[in-house]
Amino acid sequence: MIRKCFLCNSDAIERIFSTTWPLPGLSTTEIGFSVCPDCGSVCQSPSVNFDEMMTFYSSMAVYTNPGRQENPSDAKVRDLDEQIQFIKRGIGHLPSSALQIGSSDGYTLSRFRDAGVERVLGVEPSSASVELAKRLYQIDCIDSSAEDFQTDERFELLLLTHVLEHLYQPQEILAKCRKIQSNIDEGFIYIEVPLMTNPDSLCPGFFSFEHINYYTKENLLQSLKLAGYSPVSLIEHFNSNLSPIIGVLASTKKQNNYVCFRADVEGNRRILKDYHSKEINYWQGCLDVVMSKLQQSKRIFLWGAGIHTCQLVANTNLLEYCKVDGLTDTSSLKWGLKQGEWICQDPASINWQEGDTVLISSYASEKEIFNALSWLRDKGVETLKLHSIDNIRAR
Ligand SMILES: [Zn+2]
Repeated sequence: MIRKCFLCNSDAIERIFSTTWPLPGLSTTEIGFSVCPDCGSVCQSPSVNFDEMMTFYSSMAVYTNPGRQENPSDAKVRDLDEQIQFIKRGIGHLPSSALQIGSSDGYTLSRFRDAGVERVLGVEPSSASVELAKRLYQIDCIDSSAEDFQTDERFELLLLTHVLEHLYQPQEILAKCRKIQSNIDEGFIYIEVPLMTNPDSLCPGFFSFEHINYYTKENLLQSLKLAGYSPVSLIEHFNSNLSPIIGVLASTKKQNNYVCFRADVEGNRRILKDYHSKEINYWQGCLDVVMSKLQQSKRIFLWGAGIHTCQLVANTNLLEYCKVDGLTDTSSLKWGLKQGEWICQDPASINWQEGDTVLISSYASEKEIFNALSWLRDKGVETLKLHSIDNIRAR
């Protein structure tokens, strides 16, 4: 599907690169990244359509991590400490009510409640997450999507952290937010998204499948202004999480804090091009390190039905030089899913033999996965980390 620009609606967006992705549970699809010649915004296009994306999400359970006994990560705790202080400082007081769109497991809202926000409510499309928020933190959520939810309540603060980059029509959702805050004296919105910036600051996989809109500081501020918000203050981090992030607090009352928007079409085109050549070199370089071991193995299994396996196949010559015998994953949601030529299998159902090799394609969870595979190494199976990074940055 070819998209229009998510910010200015231009239908003449320019494709910078695209590759063929063997998507889990979907047909193999051309996925690319494009720049808008009018406003410079970068989006994923071509992409899958909305229904296909929902099919993907339902098979992936990407936003709950059972590995941490349902506790928030240290990074998440730290991020919330800062977010609450930043918002309080920007507004001048703690807001009395908060609605979070995309409230996930409820941890964020529980922190705002514990800080003293009297009324908190979530909107969350995953029923499993809605139940989790109730059970873990006694947080109420509307079980619905950003597109479909309805409320007559008014909220002083709206929170959308890591939501806009996933939405097919982010400006419509921001307009809906503005409407929810139309009858109050002053409303605030806090938006946080991955920050598209210098390609050297972007991790492999930054231009990803789930993220269909990309924000620079300039077009994020512009997106808020177009929706009727006026930016109060912003925060940027480059080294603290896997991707750079930007957070903006904006008001329904006019502010005069930031200069007017200037489209940087050429700059953003450059970022996409530089990133793409870095990305290809990166994935191929990782594969080259393990290639001779792969070629010596009896059978090869890819570990992880998901996006990193897509990127490995899309960005390297793996399939030209190796026969891949299967795909496996510990998540039962993925068993039976077709990805490319393979059907994802339960690792316990595979008749592992000495001389088999497992290649772990995950970036963020590589070490966790590797450590959990000693049972395979005991059987004489080689377990290879593709990235071999000591990942100190938090998710
Ligand atoms: Zn545009």
